[in-house]
Amino acid sequence: MSTIPFFDFHCDSLTKGGYKKLIKNDTMHWSLPRFIQGGGQLQVHAIFTPPEYKKGDATMFAMKYASEWQKFLEETNTTGVRSKEDLDEEGPFSILSLEDASPLAGNIEALNMFFDLGVRLITLVWSCDNEVGRGVIHGQGPAITKFGKNLIRKMNEKNVIVDLSHASDELFWEAVKTSSKPVVASHSNSRKFRNHPRNLTDDQIKEISNCDGIIGLVYVPNFVGDPPKGTQDEWDFELKGGAEMLAKHAAHIAEISKVETVVLGSDFDGTNSPVIAEVSKTQIMAEELKKVGFSDNDIEKIFYKNAKKFLLKNLP
Ligand SMILES: [Zn+2]
Repeated sequence: MSTIPFFDFHCDSLTKGGYKKLIKNDTMHWSLPRFIQGGGQLQVHAIFTPPEYKKGDATMFAMKYASEWQKFLEETNTTGVRSKEDLDEEGPFSILSLEDASPLAGNIEALNMFFDLGVRLITLVWSCDNEVGRGVIHGQGPAITKFGKNLIRKMNEKNVIVDLSHASDELFWEAVKTSSKPVVASHSNSRKFRNHPRNLTDDQIKEISNCDGIIGLVYVPNFVGDPPKGTQDEWDFELKGGAEMLAKHAAHIAEISKVETVVLGSDFDGTNSPVIAEVSKTQIMAEELKKVGFSDNDIEKIFYKNAKKFLLKNLP
Protein backbone atom coordinates (compact mmCIF):
# COMPACT_ATOMS: atom_id res chain seq x y z
CA MET A 1 0.00 0.00 0.00
CA SER A 2 1.35 3.44 -0.81
CA THR A 3 1.66 6.05 1.93
CA ILE A 4 -1.73 7.53 2.77
CA PRO A 5 -1.74 11.13 4.00
CA PHE A 6 -3.26 11.54 7.43
CA PHE A 7 -4.82 14.09 9.79
CA ASP A 8 -4.55 13.37 13.53
CA PHE A 9 -7.04 15.06 15.87
CA HIS A 10 -5.12 14.86 19.16
CA CYS A 11 -1.62 14.68 20.60
CA ASP A 12 -0.03 16.04 23.80
CA SER A 13 3.44 16.54 22.35
CA LEU A 14 3.41 20.36 22.56
CA THR A 15 3.04 20.44 26.34
CA LYS A 16 5.16 17.34 26.82
CA GLY A 17 8.21 18.69 25.03
CA GLY A 18 7.78 22.34 24.03
CA TYR A 19 8.43 23.63 20.51
CA LYS A 20 12.07 22.58 20.25
CA LYS A 21 11.19 18.93 20.74
CA LEU A 22 8.35 19.20 18.21
CA ILE A 23 10.91 20.19 15.61
CA LYS A 24 13.38 17.42 16.33
CA ASN A 25 13.67 14.71 18.96
CA ASP A 26 14.14 10.98 19.31
CA THR A 27 12.52 10.65 22.70
CA MET A 28 8.88 11.56 22.10
CA HIS A 29 6.20 9.82 20.03
CA TRP A 30 5.84 12.88 17.77
CA SER A 31 8.31 15.07 15.92
CA LEU A 32 7.73 17.01 12.71
CA PRO A 33 10.23 15.04 10.57
CA ARG A 34 8.76 11.70 11.68
CA PHE A 35 5.21 13.02 11.24
CA ILE A 36 6.00 13.96 7.62
CA GLN A 37 7.89 10.71 7.04
CA GLY A 38 4.82 8.76 8.18
CA GLY A 39 2.48 10.64 5.79
CA GLY A 40 1.27 13.25 8.30
CA GLN A 41 -0.43 16.37 6.94
CA LEU A 42 -2.37 17.88 9.82
CA GLN A 43 -1.90 17.54 13.56
CA VAL A 44 -4.12 18.98 16.27
CA HIS A 45 -1.65 20.05 18.98
CA ALA A 46 -3.33 20.20 22.38
CA ILE A 47 -2.31 22.39 25.27
CA PHE A 48 -2.94 19.95 28.09
CA THR A 49 -3.19 21.97 31.30
CA PRO A 50 -2.60 19.65 34.30
CA PRO A 51 -5.38 19.84 36.92
CA GLU A 52 -3.07 21.20 39.62
CA TYR A 53 -3.02 24.50 37.67
CA LYS A 54 -6.10 26.52 38.59
CA LYS A 55 -7.52 29.87 37.48
CA GLY A 56 -4.76 32.40 36.69
CA ASP A 57 -2.04 29.74 36.89
CA ALA A 58 -3.88 27.67 34.30
CA THR A 59 -4.24 30.75 32.08
CA MET A 60 -0.51 31.50 32.31
CA PHE A 61 0.38 27.86 31.63
CA ALA A 62 -1.74 27.80 28.45
CA MET A 63 -0.46 31.17 27.24
CA LYS A 64 3.11 29.96 27.59
CA TYR A 65 2.38 26.99 25.35
CA ALA A 66 0.35 29.05 22.86
CA SER A 67 3.53 31.07 22.44
CA GLU A 68 5.58 27.86 22.09
CA TRP A 69 3.18 26.81 19.30
CA GLN A 70 3.72 30.16 17.57
CA LYS A 71 7.50 29.63 17.71
CA PHE A 72 7.04 26.14 16.28
CA LEU A 73 5.17 27.60 13.29
CA GLU A 74 7.74 30.34 12.78
CA GLU A 75 10.71 27.98 12.83
CA THR A 76 9.22 25.35 10.51
CA ASN A 77 7.23 25.37 7.29
CA THR A 78 4.09 24.35 9.23
CA THR A 79 0.89 26.27 8.50
CA GLY A 80 -1.11 27.15 11.62
CA VAL A 81 -4.75 26.61 10.69
CA ARG A 82 -7.05 29.39 11.89
CA SER A 83 -9.61 29.36 9.07
CA LYS A 84 -10.87 27.14 6.26
CA GLU A 85 -8.78 29.11 3.78
CA ASP A 86 -5.58 28.14 5.59
CA LEU A 87 -6.16 24.57 4.41
CA ASP A 88 -5.53 25.77 0.82
CA GLU A 89 -1.92 26.52 1.82
CA GLU A 90 0.90 24.01 1.64
CA GLY A 91 1.06 21.55 4.52
CA PRO A 92 2.07 20.37 6.96
CA PHE A 93 -0.68 21.90 9.08
CA SER A 94 -1.23 22.32 12.80
CA ILE A 95 -4.34 23.29 14.76
CA LEU A 96 -4.01 24.54 18.32
CA SER A 97 -6.44 23.18 20.92
CA LEU A 98 -7.00 23.40 24.66
CA GLU A 99 -7.37 20.11 26.50
CA ASP A 100 -9.39 21.27 29.53
CA ALA A 101 -11.04 24.70 29.44
CA SER A 102 -9.48 25.54 32.83
CA PRO A 103 -7.24 28.27 31.28
CA LEU A 104 -10.41 30.29 30.58
CA ALA A 105 -10.82 30.44 34.38
CA GLY A 106 -14.58 30.72 34.08
CA ASN A 107 -14.30 33.97 32.11
CA ILE A 108 -16.09 34.03 28.76
CA GLU A 109 -13.91 36.94 27.56
CA ALA A 110 -10.89 34.64 27.80
CA LEU A 111 -12.31 32.72 24.84
CA ASN A 112 -11.66 35.77 22.64
CA MET A 113 -8.08 35.93 23.86
CA PHE A 114 -7.35 32.24 23.23
CA PHE A 115 -9.12 32.49 19.87
CA ASP A 116 -6.74 35.30 18.92
CA LEU A 117 -3.82 33.12 20.02
CA GLY A 118 -5.00 30.49 17.52
CA VAL A 119 -7.12 28.04 19.54
CA ARG A 120 -9.76 26.43 17.30
CA LEU A 121 -10.85 23.43 19.41
CA ILE A 122 -11.50 23.08 23.13
CA THR A 123 -11.81 19.80 25.02
CA LEU A 124 -14.28 21.07 27.63
CA VAL A 125 -12.96 19.10 30.60
CA TRP A 126 -10.26 16.63 31.49
CA SER A 127 -10.76 13.97 34.15
CA CYS A 128 -11.66 16.33 37.01
CA ASP A 129 -14.43 18.88 37.39
CA ASN A 130 -13.74 22.37 36.12
CA GLU A 131 -15.63 25.64 35.52
CA VAL A 132 -17.54 23.99 32.63
CA GLY A 133 -18.84 20.85 34.30
CA ARG A 134 -18.16 17.28 35.30
CA GLY A 135 -15.03 15.44 34.12
CA VAL A 136 -15.06 11.75 33.40
CA ILE A 137 -12.99 9.99 36.06
CA HIS A 138 -12.92 12.09 39.23
CA GLY A 139 -15.84 14.40 38.47
CA GLN A 140 -18.61 14.80 41.04
CA GLY A 141 -19.93 18.32 40.49
CA PRO A 142 -22.81 19.59 38.37
CA ALA A 143 -23.11 18.02 34.90
CA ILE A 144 -22.80 21.44 33.29
CA THR A 145 -22.57 24.93 34.75
CA LYS A 146 -24.12 28.17 33.52
CA PHE A 147 -20.63 29.16 32.35
CA GLY A 148 -20.36 25.84 30.51
CA LYS A 149 -23.55 26.50 28.56
CA ASN A 150 -22.50 30.07 27.75
CA LEU A 151 -19.09 28.86 26.66
CA ILE A 152 -20.53 26.29 24.25
CA ARG A 153 -22.84 28.93 22.71
CA LYS A 154 -19.98 31.38 22.32
CA MET A 155 -17.75 28.65 20.85
CA ASN A 156 -20.52 27.89 18.34
CA GLU A 157 -20.69 31.58 17.42
CA LYS A 158 -16.94 31.79 16.85
CA ASN A 159 -16.67 28.38 15.19
CA VAL A 160 -14.41 26.94 17.88
CA ILE A 161 -14.91 23.16 17.83
CA VAL A 162 -16.53 21.58 20.91
CA ASP A 163 -14.63 18.41 21.95
CA LEU A 164 -16.32 15.94 24.33
CA SER A 165 -13.50 13.46 24.92
CA HIS A 166 -13.04 13.30 28.71
CA ALA A 167 -16.58 14.57 29.34
CA SER A 168 -18.61 12.60 31.88
CA ASP A 169 -21.76 11.04 30.39
CA GLU A 170 -23.78 13.70 32.23
CA LEU A 171 -21.79 16.55 30.66
CA PHE A 172 -21.83 14.83 27.27
CA TRP A 173 -25.62 14.87 26.99
CA GLU A 174 -25.96 18.41 28.34
CA ALA A 175 -23.32 19.63 25.90
CA VAL A 176 -24.89 18.07 22.80
CA LYS A 177 -28.23 19.57 23.87
CA THR A 178 -26.61 22.99 24.16
CA SER A 179 -24.42 22.95 21.04
CA SER A 180 -25.96 24.12 17.78
CA LYS A 181 -22.89 22.90 15.86
CA PRO A 182 -21.43 19.42 15.36
CA VAL A 183 -19.36 18.15 18.30
CA VAL A 184 -16.34 15.86 18.22
CA ALA A 185 -14.68 13.31 20.48
CA SER A 186 -11.09 13.96 19.43
CA HIS A 187 -9.62 10.90 21.15
CA SER A 188 -12.12 8.24 22.34
CA ASN A 189 -12.94 4.66 21.33
CA SER A 190 -16.01 2.42 21.66
CA ARG A 191 -17.20 1.45 25.15
CA LYS A 192 -18.75 -1.69 23.70
CA PHE A 193 -15.29 -3.02 22.84
CA ARG A 194 -13.50 -1.73 25.91
CA ASN A 195 -15.75 -0.88 28.82
CA HIS A 196 -14.00 2.24 30.07
CA PRO A 197 -15.69 5.55 30.91
CA ARG A 198 -13.25 7.39 28.57
CA ASN A 199 -14.84 5.52 25.66
CA LEU A 200 -18.18 6.29 24.02
CA THR A 201 -21.43 4.34 24.35
CA ASP A 202 -23.24 3.34 21.17
CA ASP A 203 -25.82 6.08 21.82
CA GLN A 204 -23.09 8.69 22.14
CA ILE A 205 -21.43 7.49 18.93
CA LYS A 206 -24.76 7.73 17.08
CA GLU A 207 -25.42 11.19 18.51
CA ILE A 208 -22.04 12.52 17.34
CA SER A 209 -22.54 10.92 13.94
CA ASN A 210 -26.11 12.22 13.52
CA CYS A 211 -24.90 15.77 13.99
CA ASP A 212 -22.05 15.16 11.48
CA GLY A 213 -19.35 15.24 14.14
CA ILE A 214 -16.28 13.01 14.19
CA ILE A 215 -14.58 10.56 16.55
CA GLY A 216 -10.78 10.12 16.73
CA LEU A 217 -9.46 6.58 17.29
CA VAL A 218 -7.16 6.81 20.32
CA TYR A 219 -4.02 4.65 20.71
CA VAL A 220 -3.99 4.49 24.55
CA PRO A 221 -3.89 0.74 25.40
CA ASN A 222 -6.25 1.18 28.32
CA PHE A 223 -8.95 2.49 25.97
CA VAL A 224 -8.29 -0.19 23.33
CA GLY A 225 -8.49 -3.49 25.19
CA ASP A 226 -9.18 -5.05 28.56
CA PRO A 227 -6.16 -5.04 30.86
CA PRO A 228 -4.54 -8.46 31.27
CA LYS A 229 -5.78 -10.35 34.34
CA GLY A 230 -4.11 -9.37 37.57
CA THR A 231 -3.11 -5.88 36.43
CA GLN A 232 -4.70 -2.70 37.66
CA ASP A 233 -7.22 -0.73 35.68
CA GLU A 234 -4.60 1.93 35.07
CA TRP A 235 -2.26 -0.45 33.23
CA ASP A 236 -0.18 1.10 30.55
CA PHE A 237 2.19 -0.83 28.28
CA GLU A 238 2.44 -1.71 24.66
CA LEU A 239 -0.52 -3.91 23.93
CA LYS A 240 0.19 -6.91 21.78
CA GLY A 241 -2.05 -6.72 18.73
CA GLY A 242 -3.36 -3.36 19.93
CA ALA A 243 -3.61 -1.78 16.47
CA GLU A 244 -5.59 -4.81 15.30
CA MET A 245 -7.99 -4.40 18.22
CA LEU A 246 -8.29 -0.68 17.55
CA ALA A 247 -9.33 -1.40 13.95
CA LYS A 248 -12.24 -3.38 15.39
CA HIS A 249 -13.35 -0.29 17.33
CA ALA A 250 -13.30 1.57 14.01
CA ALA A 251 -15.38 -1.13 12.34
CA HIS A 252 -17.95 -1.01 15.14
CA ILE A 253 -18.21 2.79 15.09
CA ALA A 254 -18.63 2.76 11.29
CA GLU A 255 -21.18 -0.04 11.47
CA ILE A 256 -23.49 1.59 14.00
CA SER A 257 -23.04 5.10 12.55
CA LYS A 258 -21.13 5.74 9.34
CA VAL A 259 -17.55 5.56 8.12
CA GLU A 260 -17.58 9.36 7.74
CA THR A 261 -17.59 9.61 11.56
CA VAL A 262 -14.21 7.93 12.06
CA VAL A 263 -10.88 9.81 12.12
CA LEU A 264 -7.52 9.37 13.89
CA GLY A 265 -6.89 10.83 17.38
CA SER A 266 -3.67 9.17 18.54
CA ASP A 267 -2.93 10.91 21.88
CA PHE A 268 0.79 10.61 21.12
CA ASP A 269 2.85 11.76 24.10
CA GLY A 270 -0.26 11.60 26.27
CA THR A 271 0.33 7.94 27.16
CA ASN A 272 3.41 5.80 27.76
CA SER A 273 2.93 2.99 25.25
CA PRO A 274 0.54 3.78 22.41
CA VAL A 275 -0.61 0.82 20.31
CA ILE A 276 1.12 2.50 17.35
CA ALA A 277 4.58 3.04 18.79
CA GLU A 278 5.25 6.50 17.31
CA VAL A 279 3.99 8.84 14.62
CA SER A 280 6.14 7.62 11.69
CA LYS A 281 4.44 4.21 12.08
CA THR A 282 0.91 5.50 11.47
CA GLN A 283 0.55 3.55 8.19
CA ILE A 284 0.29 0.35 10.28
CA MET A 285 -3.22 1.53 11.11
CA ALA A 286 -4.13 1.48 7.40
CA GLU A 287 -3.06 -2.16 7.13
CA GLU A 288 -5.14 -3.08 10.18
CA LEU A 289 -8.18 -1.21 8.87
CA LYS A 290 -7.88 -3.12 5.61
CA LYS A 291 -7.77 -6.44 7.48
CA VAL A 292 -11.10 -5.74 9.20
CA GLY A 293 -12.72 -5.03 5.83
CA PHE A 294 -12.44 -1.29 5.14
CA SER A 295 -11.99 -0.46 1.44
CA ASP A 296 -9.10 1.69 0.23
CA ASN A 297 -11.56 4.55 -0.16
CA ASP A 298 -12.83 4.10 3.42
CA ILE A 299 -9.27 4.08 4.74
CA GLU A 300 -8.57 7.35 2.95
CA LYS A 301 -11.71 8.74 4.55
CA ILE A 302 -10.56 7.69 8.04
CA PHE A 303 -7.00 8.89 7.47
CA TYR A 304 -7.78 12.38 6.15
CA LYS A 305 -10.89 12.91 4.03
CA ASN A 306 -13.38 12.87 6.92
CA ALA A 307 -11.29 15.21 9.05
CA LYS A 308 -10.68 17.59 6.16
CA LYS A 309 -14.35 17.71 5.21
CA PHE A 310 -15.28 18.37 8.84
CA LEU A 311 -12.75 21.19 9.17
CA LEU A 312 -13.79 22.81 5.87
CA LYS A 313 -17.33 22.92 7.20
CA ASN A 314 -16.67 23.90 10.81
CA LEU A 315 -13.65 26.22 10.97
CA PRO A 316 -14.18 30.00 10.83
ZN1 LIG B 1 -6.74 13.30 26.72
